[in-house]
Amino acid sequence: MKIPTKIKIGGHIFDIYKEDRSKNGIDGKLGSCNAARNTIWLDTNQPQTQLENTLLHEIIEAINWQQQLELDHKTISQLENALYQVLHDNEILEGKAEKRSKILRSKAP
Ligand SMILES: [Zn+2]
Repeated sequence: MKIPTKIKIGGHIFDIYKEDRSKNGIDGKLGSCNAARNTIWLDTNQPQTQLENTLLHEIIEAINWQQQLELDHKTISQLENALYQVLHDNEILEGKAEKRSKILRSKAP
């Protein structure tokens, strides 16, 4: 998945900032979301698949805040990982979902 620079969540356009946080001495957090300010930060010092996973996490954080779902961090992480597995394994993140659908259809009895 290409990490976008902007993403619309709940009708709001969020800016996505990327930085190597290990260089700035603020290592530890892979990403953060400020839903009130429409911003998401991602640490570029992580493998591409983790970066995608982290973006998904921050999107869920934004939805959690907007919708007042009151999900705890552990639940958000579980949703993140479960959703990422589906999106990744079905190649939806790579924009190959239709090709994948055809393969799955051809395997159906
Ligand atoms: Zn979180």
